[in-house]
Amino acid sequence: MNEVAAQVDARTAELATNLSALLQRVDAACLAAGRAPDSVRLLPVTKFFPAEDVAILYRLGRREFGESREQEATAKVAALPSLVRQDAESDEGLPDVQWHMIGRLQRNKARVVARWAHTVHSVDSERLATALDTGARTALDVGQRSEPVRVLLQVSLDEDPSRGGVAPDDLARLAEHIAASTGLRLSGLMAIPPLGVESDAAFARLATLHTLLLAEHPGATELSAGMSGDLESAIQHGATCVRVGTALMGARPITSA
Ligand SMILES: *Cc1c(COP(=O)(O)O)cnc(C)c1O
Repeated sequence: MNEVAAQVDARTAELATNLSALLQRVDAACLAAGRAPDSVRLLPVTKFFPAEDVAILYRLGRREFGESREQEATAKVAALPSLVRQDAESDEGLPDVQWHMIGRLQRNKARVVARWAHTVHSVDSERLATALDTGARTALDVGQRSEPVRVLLQVSLDEDPSRGGVAPDDLARLAEHIAASTGLRLSGLMAIPPLGVESDAAFARLATLHTLLLAEHPGATELSAGMSGDLESAIQHGATCVRVGTALMGARPITSA
């Protein structure tokens, strides 16, 4: 076996081991919370890792991937089809793959993201929503996508604007704005627990906000919460999607970004 193939095999074994451990963690957390195991989806977060790793996860059966930086993600979206082509149904892209944008999104990147994102988890302002809606409607018109962009509203649980997220008081108005946008589909909430706040308390607050949102928007069932270190707590509080990077991929390379 050549060296490259041996490296791919070793990485495949590592990701397969981590993946099965994580799926067991999710199942155990569902059991502990009295929830059905299929009520929570594991979203692999592949930021900072190469498209080759995404291809390995694809071969291991994963079809949803989370990315947090537009340029890096756009490049991986373009690279993946040829990396997995031998396994793909057709050679015209990968219709079964769903890409999630989970990181902060600048308005001037919204148009590009609207071409490839199945779901954006980080919408926190009307201006960003409007830009994403414009991009999504264009992409729909020219056939770059067939469905509206699913949108999760990122909520700030500490009202520290530097970390992103809409203040809870402004949530209802932003939800109305998105519900009225034809290129977008309001699908739920997302949050990252604030530094220094116990994750249990943060997720409990998020669950309360989700209940209020659901009363007005019954279709907004998604709750994106929980990462490598706190997914059990998030599942206890109703998460439907846990975003896991480190526990699956390993430590991210040090970066200043
Ligand atoms: C990187 C990232 C994650 C994954 O975090 P881990 O602790 O590595 O699992 C989840 N959500 C967001 C928004 C991220 O940027």
